[in-house]
Amino acid sequence: MIVIMQSGASRGDVDHVVGLIRQYGLRDHVIVGTDRTVVAAIGDKRSVDMSAIENAPQVERVVPILAPYKVASKEVKKEPSVIPIGRGASVGGARVAMIAGPCSVESRQQVLEVAQAVKEAGAVGLRGGAFKPRTNPYQFQGLGEQALEYLAEAGAATGLAVVTEVMSIDQVELVSRYSDVLQIGTRNMHNFNLLVACGRSPRPVLLKRGWSATLEEFLLAAEYVINAGNPNVILCERGIRTQETYVRNTLPLAVIPAVKRASHLPIVIDPSQGTGHAYMVPAMCRASIAAGADGLLIEVHGDPEHALTDGAQSITPEVFAETTRQCRAIAAAVGREM
Ligand code: PEP
Ligand code: MN
Repeated sequence: MIVIMQSGASRGDVDHVVGLIRQYGLRDHVIVGTDRTVVAAIGDKRSVDMSAIENAPQVERVVPILAPYKVASKEVKKEPSVIPIGRGASVGGARVAMIAGPCSVESRQQVLEVAQAVKEAGAVGLRGGAFKPRTNPYQFQGLGEQALEYLAEAGAATGLAVVTEVMSIDQVELVSRYSDVLQIGTRNMHNFNLLVACGRSPRPVLLKRGWSATLEEFLLAAEYVINAGNPNVILCERGIRTQETYVRNTLPLAVIPAVKRASHLPIVIDPSQGTGHAYMVPAMCRASIAAGADGLLIEVHGDPEHALTDGAQSITPEVFAETTRQCRAIAAAVGREM
């Protein structure tokens, strides 16, 4: 249920409602909007009659949340969320966020150079895998903590917020120490224990959609993170499995308006995993911004032909700079900035 407060409700009125919700044995989630505050009551309500809360001072209405996800839902919060990602950057709101960097961190020099290049082109975030979830156990698994050190150094040198993947619960603390944002990969979207562990971290979470997850499952995964205490979730579409072979994954950009209708969370698009081919990436970047994406997560490599992972889908810093220029024009055309 959500308790919608009247626009004149004071902090004390809200606290009173929070107290009642707790008395019912439910969890509260207070969302302060520009116009009014709403309090979501989360938990098993079968044995609770919440309608009495309507009598509390300054309560306008008590309404059920129809979606299975609650705190991720637009029903609970109408205004789009703006998620701070560190170093003064954020995802959501008017500004479209470019997050770019190599698939994997391969060396100190590689990540420093690419960070500098994407920063100059207008990126606000630096991506790069330290722990790589590889389908094949014989392929490059990432440089681990060494890579985290290089990423942190590159972030500090450029002012870019660092985004890197955390693959397991026991890595959450370590990755949180070096990274501004915790990336949860497509293969882990259903790893509910990891979602909860990241929900207890103070770091914002970039949650990738499972490659065969429905939108509802995706939003329920986000709900796990928020419900565990971390409201700062950024959704990331990275393509889904279909029968197609001309792409590595099929990138469903219709998810952008669908997310905007269902949720207040921002959504970024990863056109690199989303297509698997560098030549498709600029077009999908442009299309994503036109469709209302809040940002892009793009693989950029100084020497794609020799990349240790995902070279085929990595664009060069030059192509990134040109793509960013084009996206900036498209952003302006749809009422956004970059
Ligand atoms: C990546 O971003 O390099 C990655 C492994 O992504 P995904 O989890 O979407 O496959
Ligand atoms: Mn990759």
